[in-house]
Amino acid sequence: MMKVITLVLGPVETNTYIVADPDTQEAVVIDPAWDGEKIALRANREGWAIRQIWLTHAHFDHLAGVSGIAKQVIPIPPVALHPLDIPMWETMGGAALFGFRIEAGPRPSIELAAGQELQVGHLRFEVRHVPGHTPGHVVFYAPAEKTLFSGDAIFAGSIGRTDLPGGSYQQLLLSIQSQILSLPDDTRLLSGHGLASTVGQEKRFNPFLTDLLFQ
Ligand SMILES: [Zn+2]
Ligand SMILES: [Zn+2]
Repeated sequence: MMKVITLVLGPVETNTYIVADPDTQEAVVIDPAWDGEKIALRANREGWAIRQIWLTHAHFDHLAGVSGIAKQVIPIPPVALHPLDIPMWETMGGAALFGFRIEAGPRPSIELAAGQELQVGHLRFEVRHVPGHTPGHVVFYAPAEKTLFSGDAIFAGSIGRTDLPGGSYQQLLLSIQSQILSLPDDTRLLSGHGLASTVGQEKRFNPFLTDLLFQ
């Protein structure tokens, strides 16, 4: 059974997920938003070893905690990111645009790709590429756990903004339709901001998506 701790961190209330296999006590951090030291301490308190850091995309509010984790955890967990978001990572996710200075953590060394399988302990995840919010945005799907970590692609009742550099509204809708709404209705959605939802709930009630289903 997968264990998930949700921490809401940083200036735009980003969801950081510590995801662990309690059998092996190994964990991964998905989108360390802010306060990396705090994230590392929390995992430590649970008795979990952080093995990797996975980024859904390279906006500053999803990676500002990487450097703090890297200072606390030995060995330093490698960071995973899709290569199309590396240019954005190099500007620290547009932090300066929003008036923040962010310390760069270790450069991403795991290149994510569509269809790639990731593992933490015995938990298996499939990487799905969902461009639109950013060019290299990915989501992490754990089929056995019926859970999707959906980053800023889709939220409860909303979708990611597409007005930032590299964003595309049409592309985002296509991505959501083909890569997210195609999952079983009872798939839990744990997104980058706000409350949890399910695929079925968003199909029925998300005002940005209801039209899609009739195309
Ligand atoms: Zn974002
Ligand atoms: Zn965000």
